[in-house]
Amino acid sequence: MLTTNPFDDDKLREECGIFGIWGADNAASFVALGLHALQHRGQEGAGVTSFDGAHFHSHRAMGHIAGNFDRDEVMRALPGRTAIGHVRYSTTGESGLRNVQPLFAELAEGGFAVAQNGNLSNAMKLRRTLNRRGSIFQSTSDTEVIIHLVATSNHTTSLDRLTDALKQVEGAYSLLVLTPDGLIACRDPLGIRPLVMGKLGEATIFASETVALDVIGATFLRDVEPGELVLVNGSGIRSFRPFAKVEPRPCVFEHVYFSRPDSVADGKSVYEVRKNIGAELSREAPVEADYVVPVPDSGVPAAIGFSQASGIPFELGIIRSHYVGRTFIQPSQEVRNLGVKLKHNANSALVHGKRIVLIDDSIVRGTTSVKIVQMMRDAGAREVHLRIASPPTRHSCFYGVDTPERAKLLAAQMSVEAMRDYINADSLAFISIEGLYRALGSERNDQQPQRCDACFTGDYPTSLTDFTEKESAGSLSLVASR
Ligand code: AMP
Repeated sequence: MLTTNPFDDDKLREECGIFGIWGADNAASFVALGLHALQHRGQEGAGVTSFDGAHFHSHRAMGHIAGNFDRDEVMRALPGRTAIGHVRYSTTGESGLRNVQPLFAELAEGGFAVAQNGNLSNAMKLRRTLNRRGSIFQSTSDTEVIIHLVATSNHTTSLDRLTDALKQVEGAYSLLVLTPDGLIACRDPLGIRPLVMGKLGEATIFASETVALDVIGATFLRDVEPGELVLVNGSGIRSFRPFAKVEPRPCVFEHVYFSRPDSVADGKSVYEVRKNIGAELSREAPVEADYVVPVPDSGVPAAIGFSQASGIPFELGIIRSHYVGRTFIQPSQEVRNLGVKLKHNANSALVHGKRIVLIDDSIVRGTTSVKIVQMMRDAGAREVHLRIASPPTRHSCFYGVDTPERAKLLAAQMSVEAMRDYINADSLAFISIEGLYRALGSERNDQQPQRCDACFTGDYPTSLTDFTEKESAGSLSLVASR
């Protein structure tokens, strides 16, 4: 079955992580290590493609990096001094595997492998046009559109053909492309999704987050700039800026939730920003309580910030089992509910009789909040106050964070007071959008926001061709996004 419409199900998927290296022996091993550090960005499928100077080699699998890419026979079959890789969310089964990246095609000019983090918001429209011209798609991934656009480009070099393709797409993309001409890294003109560049000896590395550089002992060089294409090959490292310049809009949710706290995203420590958010939140929505308790792990840095700024002691009132996958990627609501119970348990001895401020990073459907507040009450908490380290999520993301359709976003359906009632908390408050920007060390410019904060504000930085067409056409099939 081809379920190609991201709104067909109510799964909220995560983004993807990408990693590439040029100029190191056993390049694929470094990619596997780098992807291991990016596993939080996508846990259902992973792939690595290497190039040995003559041939491309690829291995893709459902599941985690560990278990798939720690096997000698797999790594031996990925020779070469350059390689790229990808971790992603994907659906299960056959249709899942064929969407696992890097995607690869033998083009007239040679092999072409691509790994993308992001989501193209006009992929379906382009795909229909390409279909009509005879393109035969092998996957339901929006990334494959890029391959077909490259294949049909009239330009000659890999770089020009890729640029030509990218000028036709809209949305968010951080890409790694491997061709016989070299490794190309590129970020969309708005820089919605992250991509950093590093060095390990003579090797050049690209990764979604700095934590993937740390894990292999590489040095951070710089961010790949929004709208920049970097080509690395035997002639060195060259940078190209083929797009009209626009004000960048990196995703604010990377700081709120996605990136690992030990990463540095657009020059800022994710950990520091999350602590700042907690501190801002304690000033915006103070509360009298005995303990500040994070919903682990994602609420921890903001809870530390809240505790330090308010003087209310930080305590671990909820303990998380690390042997359960993320609640979000469970197939049904029933399993999701069960997942939350498996994942978190109240530290009853601490919580009993106490007034608790719970800190979590976000509320999407409200599943987690309902469970956790009830868990605190069952453990004997006297009062349960919930503070959320992001503004209410009122809009779907079309740029690589697969949020449910708006109808399933709790904050799109209810006022904050109605949410408090639904969640059964004694009080509920979210950080304001202004507070979020302050935590990032800036002030929101409403005319020209410095970030993509569309999930909170509805202010989308690109047109949303596929979504708008779906709205007017009824049941249009969209390609799988990530
Ligand atoms: P929900 O239970 O549907 O309200 O989801 C909120 C919880 O999911 C929070 O605890 C977040 O840490 C986590 N979360 C938020 N956004 C995402 C996402 N895109 N993918 C996975 N988990 C998420």
